[in-house]
Amino acid sequence: MNKEIATPNRTKEILQKYGFSFKKSLGQNFLIDPNILHRIADHAGITDQTGVIEIGPGIGALTEQLAKRAKKVVAFEIDQRLLPILDDTLSPYENIKVIHQDVLKADVAAVINEEFQDCDEIKVVANLPYYVTTPIIMKLLEEKLPLNSIVVMLQKEVADRMAAAPANKDYGSLSIAVQFYTEPKTVMTVPKTVFVPQPNVDSAVIRLALRDGPAVSVDNETFFFQLVKASFAQRRKTLQNNLINNLFAEKAGKQMIEDALETAGIDGRRRGETLSIKEFGHLANILFAKL
Ligand code: SAM
Repeated sequence: MNKEIATPNRTKEILQKYGFSFKKSLGQNFLIDPNILHRIADHAGITDQTGVIEIGPGIGALTEQLAKRAKKVVAFEIDQRLLPILDDTLSPYENIKVIHQDVLKADVAAVINEEFQDCDEIKVVANLPYYVTTPIIMKLLEEKLPLNSIVVMLQKEVADRMAAAPANKDYGSLSIAVQFYTEPKTVMTVPKTVFVPQPNVDSAVIRLALRDGPAVSVDNETFFFQLVKASFAQRRKTLQNNLINNLFAEKAGKQMIEDALETAGIDGRRRGETLSIKEFGHLANILFAKL
């Protein structure tokens, strides 16, 4: 039986065998610590009835751990050079399908429909390419895929922003976007030393548990997110000034905004970063009704 792919020696052997050179532009930092991979897979709570989507299998270090636990793993990999390597390293496993595609361009809903009919639940587990962490997570959430949870390794700084509570310095539109759809929890921080090559930033594993419905009921999601974005446009400005300057193209909305803040019982002199997701939802619904 071969050693696990993620052991430093086996990884080195595989990279040498194929003369593989890392592409920084594709966020290629591979994990070389089996213990960390076991812990990621454990945090995902996978059973033999779980269908798993992986993004960026690399040489298959995490894929292997997922395949040992899951019913089926479907992995999206953008780098063609990795396909023959994955064919080789993952050959002992029958329950893995690798799709050669940029996940941002993939029709993930169709893949789920096709591949996971016989699974009880679907989870995303990945060590994400750091140059596209946020677009990937937002795509998975905004497409309202039937996912149970997303457990991913990413930059610690991004994990902190996703999980931040109001009034925290990291709280902003990303916190609200992620918390609208999920309950986030950072489950571990990870040192740079467990990757080859080592990334420049600290890493963390975050678990996003998908909510049954959004955290707050809003009449128009697009408008809700426009309002959130406008509220954080200039962090040092008051909520009222940010909304007046950034929500509508013209300042004609000034009176409407002042009235809506009053109806919502929200002091316009507060800063956006002090508002809870519920307060944003309430304010968005009042303003939207006036449009
Ligand atoms: N899972 C492996 C591990 O943990 O060692 C590799 C993780 S590495 C951080 C990120 C992987 O994502 C690389 O294999 C890279 O080629 C791939 N990747 C980068 N951009 C991608 C994209 N847009 N769609 C799919 N895969 C991508």
